Amino acid sequence: MGTFCSVVKFENLQELKRFCHWGPIIALGVIATCSTMAMMGSVLWYWPLHTTGGSVNFILLMNWTVMILYNYFSAMFVGPGFVPLGWKPENSQDSVYLQYCKVCQAYKAPRSHHCRKCNRCVMKMDHHCPWINNCCGYQNHASFTLFLLLAPLGCIHAAFIFVMTMYTQLYNRLSFGWNTVKIDMSAARRDPLPIIPFGLAAFAATLFALGLALGTTRAVGMLFFIQMKIILRNKTSIESWIEEKAKDRIQYYQLDEVFVFPYDMGSRWKNFKQMFTWSGVPEGDGLDWPIREGCHQYSLTIEQLKQKADKRVRSVRYKVIEDYSGTCCPLNRGVKTFFTSPCTEEPQIRLQKGEFILATRGLRYWLYGDKILDDSVLEGVSRIRGWFPRNCVEKCPCDAETDQAPEGEKKNR
Ligand SMILES: [Zn+2]
Ligand SMILES: [Zn+2]
Repeated sequence: MGTFCSVVKFENLQELKRFCHWGPIIALGVIATCSTMAMMGSVLWYWPLHTTGGSVNFILLMNWTVMILYNYFSAMFVGPGFVPLGWKPENSQDSVYLQYCKVCQAYKAPRSHHCRKCNRCVMKMDHHCPWINNCCGYQNHASFTLFLLLAPLGCIHAAFIFVMTMYTQLYNRLSFGWNTVKIDMSAARRDPLPIIPFGLAAFAATLFALGLALGTTRAVGMLFFIQMKIILRNKTSIESWIEEKAKDRIQYYQLDEVFVFPYDMGSRWKNFKQMFTWSGVPEGDGLDWPIREGCHQYSLTIEQLKQKADKRVRSVRYKVIEDYSGTCCPLNRGVKTFFTSPCTEEPQIRLQKGEFILATRGLRYWLYGDKILDDSVLEGVSRIRGWFPRNCVEKCPCDAETDQAPEGEKKNR
């Protein structure tokens, strides 16, 4: 596959490279397995096509597959939208409010961030998603979120078919001994005999597909709720972290300013309409953004520049108040922490009471950062970095001795 992709030189076909990654391969594999098994299961064993219900069921299953794939490919190939190379603001004086990206040789438009994997500045970047092997941002936010909604719905339908297939096929074939369960797979259950009898292989495949469908429902459904929150507040995960650092900066220097996030239009419906339109194209051009009253066009980028100047605030210091084992979906940290466990390639780290952590970004219930290691830690370990639940740590008081700002900088602005 890799060599195939490197041979293809045409610009449009170049996009096919996006398939050459574990994310799309696994995602498409799961979609193919669940929909094929659900259709086969219905037609062969559970709900034959010659019944009205069976036909409706089959059409519905096809619909899920088509709509899921349509939104998946839109998110993948339409992409987030990139800031044009060499872009500068219309009014050249405005460039003082913006950061400059050396790679793209362009100013970073408001809400855009440079993605190292895409190697471009991405409009309204939320995150780089390995499952679509592309960034999630301005242009594909709606199709990405629709995919996250449709995939669990399709999976629930498929899971129902799998359960019913196994139930109707295994009914009367099960016999229970005092410590054994026997399944008699020799006799076919349905009359007339299906083309392929429901044998052991079919049973195993259906069970496997059921596992896939249920796993997908849980994982993807959770991502849907996270994305809906982001859209309804019009605040990306990156921007939530900028806001958090803004609060930290203002508190630390005891400033009078209040940071108001400028893109939340104040109503969920207005925020929703910015992303979901009838034409399928989100409002605006991805470079200029409508702002709420009282905010400056560049409120957010000015805050980012202030944070960049203030080295201290690029990370926020936390103290560990409760041990954490480092497991992926911890059951003892609360329901919300469990269901919002970040599913990325990045690891979770083990925490011990009394340790300190420098967090560089965060979600509502999770933080990502570096452990501050002392000399007692074995040599050879340079850094321990990863995710941990927010409720295991508390923010360090601002005037911690090791955390002094240079003299004169404090209370100066
Ligand atoms: Zn860039
Ligand atoms: Zn990216």
